Amino acid sequence: MTAGKYAKLFEPVRIGPVTAPNRFYQVPHCTGMGYLRPRADAAVRGMKAEGGWGVVCNQETEIHPTSDLTPYPEGRLWDGADIPALRLMTDAIHKHGALAGIELAHNGAHAANLGTRAPVLSPSGGAIETLYPKQARVMDKADIRDLRRWHRAAARRAREAGFDIVYVYAGHEMTLAQHFLLPQLNQRSDEYGGCLTNRVRLVRELLEETREEVGDTCAVAFRLAVDQMQGAAGMQAAGEGREIVQMLADLPDLWDVNVSGWENDSVTTRFQPEDGYQNDYIGFVKEVTQRPVVGVGRLTSPDMMVSMVEKGIVDFIGAARPSIADPFLPAKIRDGRIEEIRECIGCNICVASDSQAIPIRCTQNPTMGEEWRRGWHPEKIAAKGAAKAVLVIGAGPAGLECAMQLARRGYAVTLADAAHDPGGRAAREGGLAGLGAWRRVADNRLHDLRQRANVSIYAESRLSAAEVAELGIAHVFVATGATWRRDGAGRTARGPIAMDVAMPILTPDDIMDGTVPPNGPIVIYDDDQAYMGGVLATQLAEAGRDVTLITPAPIVSPWTEMTLEQGRIQTALVALGVRIETGRALVRVTGGTCITAGVYGEAEQVIACASVLMVTSRSRETALHDELSILRAAGDIALETLELIGDAAQPGLIADAVHSGHGAARAFEGDPAQTEAEFFRREMIALTDAGEPQ
Ligand code: ADP
Ligand code: SF4
Repeated sequence: MTAGKYAKLFEPVRIGPVTAPNRFYQVPHCTGMGYLRPRADAAVRGMKAEGGWGVVCNQETEIHPTSDLTPYPEGRLWDGADIPALRLMTDAIHKHGALAGIELAHNGAHAANLGTRAPVLSPSGGAIETLYPKQARVMDKADIRDLRRWHRAAARRAREAGFDIVYVYAGHEMTLAQHFLLPQLNQRSDEYGGCLTNRVRLVRELLEETREEVGDTCAVAFRLAVDQMQGAAGMQAAGEGREIVQMLADLPDLWDVNVSGWENDSVTTRFQPEDGYQNDYIGFVKEVTQRPVVGVGRLTSPDMMVSMVEKGIVDFIGAARPSIADPFLPAKIRDGRIEEIRECIGCNICVASDSQAIPIRCTQNPTMGEEWRRGWHPEKIAAKGAAKAVLVIGAGPAGLECAMQLARRGYAVTLADAAHDPGGRAAREGGLAGLGAWRRVADNRLHDLRQRANVSIYAESRLSAAEVAELGIAHVFVATGATWRRDGAGRTARGPIAMDVAMPILTPDDIMDGTVPPNGPIVIYDDDQAYMGGVLATQLAEAGRDVTLITPAPIVSPWTEMTLEQGRIQTALVALGVRIETGRALVRVTGGTCITAGVYGEAEQVIACASVLMVTSRSRETALHDELSILRAAGDIALETLELIGDAAQPGLIADAVHSGHGAARAFEGDPAQTEAEFFRREMIALTDAGEPQ
């Protein structure tokens, strides 16, 4: 143990009746696993505990069928039948000496109850949050009594499931506890509405009753969003946020404080590049309470962590995303391996998994979500087999990850890249407006590779098939990536769009290469509909260019709704003066104009422009691989392994490329049957009598 100047982070801290072994606190976060995939979820949480997090929490956990988040598989503790699944998790956490926390939640009108079709409950009614034409039922006094009873019973079950910390959750604008606090949602005229004392009443009751129920052995935590980041239109840390903390100061055993909604709490680096960005909002809490405080804000720097504790901003370093990107972050700080920390890049691909109700994944940590299904450990990988040397061609996210894992396994790794600056799209996209943090995907891996004696990296080395043959390395991984298409083929037009050769047509690769579009108006045609179109529109508009963004989608960059960025992106483009034409497809390009048609049959329109930037789809760079395949088939090159990985195999997210490179490195010289079996592995529904009508 060489925690040294970070020793403060490894002090035990008392939380009511329990004691955390250190100050590293994985706050509740979703995994897209929940009650549907309890073994996988337990493995995720167990890995965090193994990596040194002193407290590891479950995600928001439905306490009753009237809080049914279907189709999102969050935590569930409706009745005793849910206990065994959660016990898998608490056992996995306790095995490594950490405390297990559970965030009990009644989601009110945030839950559409699509599975149970139970009434949706809210303080004052109105439209439910999900886009479904239904309104919430106004809770009467009996409903409030029921809610308190359900919460109390869930707390009891939480203890039975082995949790040490039980939450009352008033955050992300996602729970009744918070809905009652907010005048926007609570317009009641009884003792639960009106003045702040009345609006706080329900939370106070939930806290007191949770304590009565489990407070002798479990800590009672309160998660509160102290600021809605809406200025005077919402709750503010300088106003009612602070008053609530004052009113309840020492009632909970722990304050877990943040900002809401989720898009503010988990803001991306594109819109908030600074770590510790919540400190200005939560800094007051410790002045008001004697109880320990946990705060978040994409905290990855150990120096900042220590200073936050020393300055009295927090007692615990809270983390969701940094613990996803690196489950072993605490262990690495403890062992003085700071440079090995895989820093979160704030891309919100993890969040996107929850948005899509699929198992969690992470750009930086390809093992996230694969702990149980594929047996992937973020820090351990099997030693090498019989082969000695491997060649990885292309040092983008896929090639870098593949090379790094193969090097860890002990192979002699040769990594070649055509570019002067290795890193592939992580380096190239990292140079675009707002995406600077994405470079870390390359930087972390290059740093690791450069420390290793068994790795040779060759930049500015565009390999031909003949050169690969000359190298005489029998195992080759080809990670040559993909390039943006210039012909307009994308989601809407599946083939080339008619174009006049007189019109300059650019691609994102041109912009990343430093090409400046010719003078005059630029049309960006975004039929990729992910993030790139919006990023380039921002960059060019910030450079003072006249930009029109055309997309067949109904909104700008629709994919980014998944990463909680869409609203900010479109708002920023409007503010920058970008003209936005949604619901229109590019029909043809002439010298000096673009002709579009509405996707619902609206008439053609002509837009004058000096250039068109096509953001539509990408072509795989497979030429080298294909040539090697032909030589190999003809017996002209002795290759035992020739594998295409990353975007060259299947263009996707950077997260997909990293995952592909990682998987290839693990499977190399393994048992193919075993790898195949991993794909079949899923959690089966066991047909028991539990849940059968009696
Ligand atoms: P991925 O996302 O799959 O990792 P990238 O497009 O990010 O793919 O990276 C591909 C990398 O491959 C780029 O850095 C590019 O310079 C490199 N590359 C492409 N062709 C060759 C080649 N023939 N020899 C060496 N490097 C190559
Ligand atoms: Fe961070 Fe992105 Fe990983 Fe989420 S997916 S933890 S934001 S690196």
